[in-house]
Amino acid sequence: GGNLMAGKRGIVFGVANNRSIAWGITKAIAGQGAEVALTYQGDALKKRVEPLAAEVGAKLVLPCDVTDTATMDAVFATVEKEWGSLDFIVHAVAFSDKDQLDGRYVDTTEENFAKTMNISCFSLTAMAKRAEPLMTNGGSILTLTYYGAEKVMPHYNVMGVAKAALETSVQYLAADLGKNNIRVNAISAGPIKTLAASGISDFRYILKWNEYNSPLRRTVTIEDVGGGGLYLLSDLSAGVTGEVLHIDAGYHVVGMKNEDAPDI
Ligand code: NAD
Repeated sequence: GGNLMAGKRGIVFGVANNRSIAWGITKAIAGQGAEVALTYQGDALKKRVEPLAAEVGAKLVLPCDVTDTATMDAVFATVEKEWGSLDFIVHAVAFSDKDQLDGRYVDTTEENFAKTMNISCFSLTAMAKRAEPLMTNGGSILTLTYYGAEKVMPHYNVMGVAKAALETSVQYLAADLGKNNIRVNAISAGPIKTLAASGISDFRYILKWNEYNSPLRRTVTIEDVGGGGLYLLSDLSAGVTGEVLHIDAGYHVVGMKNEDAPDI
């Protein structure tokens, strides 16, 4: 490893298991000397996250459900007590009721709309607000988004609407926090088979479609996203804020099906 993250300490929200995008980012930055705190959503995930924390030498492993403000406050209070300051945050958190990641967007209920927006969008702003006073030497905040924010993707539905709001939040947060040298960016990742993705119906078809039609003729890995995470969380990207970086094998530039693509 190198030392691009030496002396930097931050919190990664959203590791569920070793297939999580947040884990790909964690591996990349820990390998470059970052000290990370990991959070887990509820006791069921605690036993999955603890061994991963041990793998990267993370001493702080804390519970956090973003719908429970007290748990978020407790994470930042612990970090303040243990570290005194904070250099980065990774927000890799999203949720929507599985039965609405199928069928038509127009059928979204008010309840699931609010829940999806709260967990997948507002939580970034809630974290940024708590991080700001601790980022006394500047900082970098990173979230994860998807092309379904920009264009209609089958079954992404209300999550696409939440990701669009998330991408706009990145821009407003970048403007608010920039004078304290706190940068806010997003990675728009291509489809990856994770726990969250398993809630989207026909995900296998989406993976194949991306493999056959993206310029690089493949899908991306959590290691690919980790590389972009390292860039956006380190000083390599010191001049970058309010950005959405596509790590999707180039899929977002394509306007039509590839002529050579086999049938799926
Ligand atoms: P994942 O299931 O590994 O991670 C999702 C995480 O969100 C989990 O750790 C889960 O515990 C957490 N979470 C959900 N509700 C929460 C709550 N109320 N409080 C705290 N945490 C909560 O799946 P992933 O694919 O790695 O997802 C990470 C991020 O990447 C998400 O924002 C997702 O939308 C985004 N993303 C995923 C893909 C993909 O294809 N997998 C593509 C682009 C963007």
